[in-house]
Amino acid sequence: MSRQEQLLQRARSSFQAGKSKAVEHRLQQLHRLMDLLTERRKDICEALRLDLGKSQHGTELFEILVVEGEIQLALEKLSEWACPRPVEKSLLTLSAEAYVQPEPLGVVLIIGAWNYPWAVTLLPLVGAIAAGNAAVIKPSEVSCGSASVMEKFLPQYLDPDLYPVVTGGVSETQELLKLRFDHIFYTGSTAVGRLVMEAAARHLTPVTLELGGKSPCYIDRKCDLSVACRRITWGKFVNCGQTCIAPDYILCEPSIQSQVVDEVIKCIKEFYTDEPRTCEDYGRIVNQQHYRRIMALMEGSAVAYGGDADQSSCYIGPTVLKDVTAESKVMKEEIFGPVLPIITVSGLDQAIQFVNEREKPLVVYVFSNCKKVIRRVQDETSSGALLANDCLVHFTIPALPFGGVGHSGMGCYRGRHTFDCLSHLRSCLIKPLSMEAVNNMRYPPHTANKLSWARFLLLRHINVPKLWRVVQMAAMVGLGAFVVQRFLLHRH
Ligand code: NAD
Repeated sequence: MSRQEQLLQRARSSFQAGKSKAVEHRLQQLHRLMDLLTERRKDICEALRLDLGKSQHGTELFEILVVEGEIQLALEKLSEWACPRPVEKSLLTLSAEAYVQPEPLGVVLIIGAWNYPWAVTLLPLVGAIAAGNAAVIKPSEVSCGSASVMEKFLPQYLDPDLYPVVTGGVSETQELLKLRFDHIFYTGSTAVGRLVMEAAARHLTPVTLELGGKSPCYIDRKCDLSVACRRITWGKFVNCGQTCIAPDYILCEPSIQSQVVDEVIKCIKEFYTDEPRTCEDYGRIVNQQHYRRIMALMEGSAVAYGGDADQSSCYIGPTVLKDVTAESKVMKEEIFGPVLPIITVSGLDQAIQFVNEREKPLVVYVFSNCKKVIRRVQDETSSGALLANDCLVHFTIPALPFGGVGHSGMGCYRGRHTFDCLSHLRSCLIKPLSMEAVNNMRYPPHTANKLSWARFLLLRHINVPKLWRVVQMAAMVGLGAFVVQRFLLHRH
């Protein structure tokens, strides 16, 4: 039996023993995960410095804070998320209890990516624990520093039987994918997402695929360009452009292109100085393979700013490309690096057409002072998310489901969405054995009279909580009237 199989079997037996299901256990494990983030912060920051050249404050802001927020939310809301959710009933089932009971799925496989290795691996884990599952955690081998810190510390803080970590490369992931899990939560490229789904199909395992793609960013002429470019520059170059929801390229009219270039350059200098190479807040490309890939993407395009690079340290400076065409290399795949191409279009119509001619992206960005422009982009395109007049920050609202559509992914997560995604929402109807006469209409012989009763009773839905509120309100009004009447009588 392979190591992966052994770990899975142990996780499954612990799950079947009911260890992960008790709400107190879930809360305790979430507290332990929070402890890990607090007590091992230094190790996490050091790992990310080695993996991606991230600064300590950058790591705390983009990786740790978001997971802390997610844990805090789960701790606050878990009992609400986990409790039965009453549903509307028909007249026929009025005396029964009808509700949705979330229940754990079993053992979830979480496969993480390398660009925000802590966030993309631990955020689904928070939901898996909250929903009462066991989970096998496979961090990306590309961010190997973070993977080994996770392998070392997660078992010290969390129940090692329920939440084992498997490290290793592609072959280890492939071994895991041969096994039968109850859900696979994958974050990474669209190409590997396809393989994950193929492997899952063999066991009929449901999947959540958090994939990538080219997220377009349209800048309208009627727009405060300096604010827009400041937000875009931040969204593009944070983590050296290795962010799944980074604006991949800009679409704008030719008349504003040079202004956009100037504003972006101004912001690059403000954020990362004239020498980003020595700036603490400017990271590095994750490895040589990605370095070569990104450098090759720039071939054949006009560099408006940057383009400087150093292979030995995996450094690529913040780069702006202008007058890029749809046929250029940089437009053939997700850039996932610090290169910002600008493509000119004749206006909003052409921008929308450009977006719709391509795969549905994770995000569509639009910058405009005009509500009609924003509305048109919203109505006439499709993407995982739509963000107007800012970049990335929709990720900070856990109430907004995070995920792609089409080639940018399937399923979504964050906060309660992760809880629901990793739960089975079980329909429960608990009927009494009394009131058998009501059922006569369904038993043969079927008659027109029985049918009209069935029509009457089945087609009328009762919202019991709402009905109950109306009854309470009526009782309070009645009581108020009674008190006032007694008071008036007393005075006379
Ligand atoms: P990666 O290379 O780290 O791969 C992710 C995981 O897939 C790893 O654990 C790896 O072992 C496994 N894997 C790789 N090749 C495999 C194969 N042939 N068979 C089975 N398993 C395999 O990450 P990546 O794919 O380079 O990540 C970058 C991509 O992830 C980008 O496209 C980015 O947009 C996307 N991403 C999406 C999100 C999101 O939330 N939607 C977040 C982060 C990254």
